[in-house]
Amino acid sequence: MEYRSRGYITVDELKSLRLLPPPERLRKGPVVVIECPEEIPCNICVGACPFNAISMEKIYSIPRVDWNKCIGCGVCVAYCPGLAIFVVDASKPGDKAYVTLPYEFLPRPRKNMVADLLGRDGRVLGKGRIVKVWSYRKTWIVTVEVPKELAMEVRSIWIREK
Ligand code: SF4
Ligand code: SF4
Repeated sequence: MEYRSRGYITVDELKSLRLLPPPERLRKGPVVVIECPEEIPCNICVGACPFNAISMEKIYSIPRVDWNKCIGCGVCVAYCPGLAIFVVDASKPGDKAYVTLPYEFLPRPRKNMVADLLGRDGRVLGKGRIVKVWSYRKTWIVTVEVPKELAMEVRSIWIREK
């Protein structure tokens, strides 16, 4: 895996680590995507999930998701100190999907704002409308509308000040 030297992980690497939900689960509704490939001593996400969908063998193991238990509520997105958890909803008809992500910058994100959509490498991939915002402590949990083909690529946003 080259993500350590590259500085960000790719979809293919996530796939080979079995960290992506299967296509049939993605078609059913919103589901969590945990992009936490390092074996670090953290298990906050395990206790955060009200549906016991996340588990770990040991405290430093990679978190694993039971895709059938996850309802895509986003609670774990708010709890992760590594900002490594997302919810993807690619189940709606049409060409749009919805990515829920953590956001800790200013200006404060608000519903209906249009933001730049950023990939894991920070590249601008397009623009998307914010459809939902809630907060937990100092983290905003933002759901943004994205082109369906970018559902596994958009992992951050940039709100340009006017
Ligand atoms: S999105 Fe909700 S149900 Fe799914 S793993 Fe996270 S906390 Fe659990
Ligand atoms: S809470 Fe975040 S950083 Fe900690 S193990 Fe879970 S996904 Fe990784």
